[in-house]
Amino acid sequence: MKRDKYKVITSNSTHGPGDAGRTGSWRVERPVIDYEKCTPAKKNKAACHLCWLYCPDGVVTKEIKPQIDLEYCKGCGICAEECPTKAIRMIEENGLPEKEEK
Ligand code: SF4
Ligand code: SF4
Repeated sequence: MKRDKYKVITSNSTHGPGDAGRTGSWRVERPVIDYEKCTPAKKNKAACHLCWLYCPDGVVTKEIKPQIDLEYCKGCGICAEECPTKAIRMIEENGLPEKEEK
């Protein structure tokens, strides 16, 4: 059977306050991106963005330097698992500020 090919790859999730509210408070680990290893940040052009594609909550932006919205990131770690360059690591949430410095 012939398979249809997707012409456009897109992330369907969008983040926002749902029934569960601001889900960032659920997190026990936080994803941190090392831009020295992140492909789009290194090449200064749109590339990869698998973290944006795979994040089930749609909280990663599709920018040259991807940003993570920590108000809604639940800390599941899928982005870190899927990142091909291991640019994302999960660190313990204890004592970290609520928002990331950009
Ligand atoms: S998956 Fe990794 S390398 Fe790709 S854009 Fe995200 S952080 Fe960068
Ligand atoms: S840890 Fe999970 S929710 Fe947070 S940015 Fe990564 S994939 Fe999305």
